[in-house]
Parts: sequence; structure tokens; C-alpha cells
Amino acid sequence: MTSKRTPTPPSGMVRVRGAREHNLKNVDVDIPRDALVVFTGVSGSGKSSLAFSTLYAEAQRRYFESVAPYARRLIDQVGVPDVDSIEGLPPAVALQQQRGTPSTRSSVGSVTTLSSLIRMLYSRAGSYPAGQTMLYAEDFSPNTPQGACPECHGLGRVYEVTEALMVPDPGLTIRQRAIASWPLAWQGQNLRDILVTMGIDVDIPWRKLPKKQRDWILFTEETPTVPVYAGLTPDETRVALQRKMEPSYQGTFTGARRYILHTFSHSQSALMKKRVSQFMLGSPCPLCDGKRLKREALSVTFAGYDIGELSQMPLLQVAEVLKPVAAHSYLEQADEPGEVLTHDQTREAREQRIAHGASGHANAPDVRHTPNPSSRTASATYAPSARFGSPWE
Ligand SMILES: [Zn+2]
Repeated sequence: MTSKRTPTPPSGMVRVRGAREHNLKNVDVDIPRDALVVFTGVSGSGKSSLAFSTLYAEAQRRYFESVAPYARRLIDQVGVPDVDSIEGLPPAVALQQQRGTPSTRSSVGSVTTLSSLIRMLYSRAGSYPAGQTMLYAEDFSPNTPQGACPECHGLGRVYEVTEALMVPDPGLTIRQRAIASWPLAWQGQNLRDILVTMGIDVDIPWRKLPKKQRDWILFTEETPTVPVYAGLTPDETRVALQRKMEPSYQGTFTGARRYILHTFSHSQSALMKKRVSQFMLGSPCPLCDGKRLKREALSVTFAGYDIGELSQMPLLQVAEVLKPVAAHSYLEQADEPGEVLTHDQTREAREQRIAHGASGHANAPDVRHTPNPSSRTASATYAPSARFGSPWE
């Protein structure tokens, strides 16, 4: 790795002075900005130490610093590179190598790392309606409680579970699996045996059961635990109960709708989700129009598009939209409704948020600004697993 000394930094350069990470020995180097730069050299010459441990480490540190104050804890984790000075370096994130080749039909959101950049773009450079305070990047994520649409919890669709869906043939008895949405095998048998204990007739056609019983079996949110006598007939069960005989086990009932929604939201198995989804009637969420975000987030636009619209665009179209931005002519031609914040206003808003965040987000989970979304905790999001084939992840 060569080093050269430049007395005054030429514009458009990233100027590194005194880099000493790993095997670097006080390296001074100027690197062109806004250009594709390749580091080459023999093994051990310090390419990675310069590119990742110095330049990227510092760029990432600045990125964290620009995001929010409590991200400082992350900065402490990544550390500060051993270098005298770096000038002309913008905040940056590294794009991880992605498996597979996204086609031009890929949406922005389908490449997850890009999603976080787009959220950052809307947070920092979006056009806000007059009077609306600046939003954090995660306010633009449907996978966070603070970004998700409150109506559909970030799913984009609302689901209805009806009796007709769960019991397609009311001429069947419960024993004949009238409740088609029940789990298969042992778990379904368990639910049936619990109903036997509760005195519900599982051997008459579903439609002949009192409506009150049908509604309770399908829609109750109660989860009673009762003794189960496996293998006994309903008559034998009645006798066993009267004699207070030792049950096979204690079984806990779950309403049919509750089982469907819970499995859809929480199951790790795509197959299970798919199975229960056939008993759900989905329609686009009326509050967010299926865009999965709260109204405040959707009111922020960039180049005239809200983040939901931009995220659904094929990459080629996104490139078209962002071309003027990349050519530095965006602000001049911005004539869309709403307020484009000047740099000073943006900074002021950020400072306000920092002041607010320092006290208001003391308990915020550490992971919220991790640039690699795969390390997000599932518990921090509402039902994120309830989606499959989502355009976002
Ligand atoms: Zn919604």
C-alpha cells in the first residue's frame, strides 16, 4: 500500500492522515469521492485495514452519530479507528453481499439493506407536511411498533375469520371434523376431548348445536383448562367426571379463531401459516391502503412519492426517480406540495429530537439501529412473522 502526502486536500477527495489500524504504519492517502475506487495490493498489505477498519469504521461511526443519540452505545461497540484525521468522508453504511441476483423487477424493499437506506432517506430528506415533526428512520418501518399502521399492525391487510370459513360443512359432527380449521392429529383430538369433558355433544351435526355453543367454540378468547379422559366415550367421560377419576391429563382449550390468528402470527412454519391462512378472509387495510405504515409516515414524500409507493417500484423506476437527486438538482426543482426542510431546519429538527430522545428513549432496545436487520429481535416488532412473501423482507 502506497502512501503520499498532500499538503492541501483537493476537493472531492477523502483525506486520510496517520492511519494506524492493524498493520498500517501511519498511512496518509487521498481517495477520490463520488467514484468507484478499488484497493489492490498483495496479501497483508493492509487493504482491509484501510477500507474496512479505518474508512468504513469511521463512516459507520458518523452514520450512527447522525441517526440518534442512543445509538452512541453502538458506536462504543464498533470502536473508533486509530487514525489522526479523515476529512471529506460522508456518513456511510456498507452493503453486504446479497445472495442471489435481484432482477429489475425486484422492489427496493426486497433487498433489505436498501430498505433501511430508503427509510433513512425519508427520515432525513423527505418532504414533511407543514407542522409535522421529523420522524426517525424506524418510523418508516412497518416492522416496528412505532412505524406500523395501528389498524393492521403493519400487515397491510386485515383479516376476518368467519364461521362459514372454519366450518365449511355444518352437516358434519365435531368428531367428523366439522371444524376444518382445527389442527390435525393429536391437537385436534385434544380439543374435541376437551369439549366432551365440557358436555358439548360432538356426535350431532354442527348445525344442530345451540348457537351459543357454536359461537363459544369458534370465537371465545377464554382458554379453560379441564381434565381430559383420552379414549373414553362421552358417556364414560361423564361417569369418570362424576367419580372424580384421575384424568389422562389436563387439557387447555383454544377457540378456533384464536388458534388461526395465533398460528398465523406466531408460527415459525410457513406450511402451518399457509394452512391456517385458507380460513382467513383478507382485504387491504382501509387505514393505510395496504402500505403497512402509520399515516404520519405515509404523509412524508420524496420526489412526490410516499415510501410505500417508492418501495413497491421496480429498481429501474427507482433509479429514474432518484436520478435528479444524484445529479444534485433535486432541491432546485422540488415543487411538490409540502415543505422541504432546509439544512438548517433539518439540523434544528434533529437537535430537537436528540434532546427529546435523550430522555424519552432511555429504554429503547439496543437493536433498533443495527444496520443489519437480521439481528433485530422479533419481540420488538408486532407479529412480523405473520407475513410470507412480504415485499419488505
Ligand atoms: Zn393498515
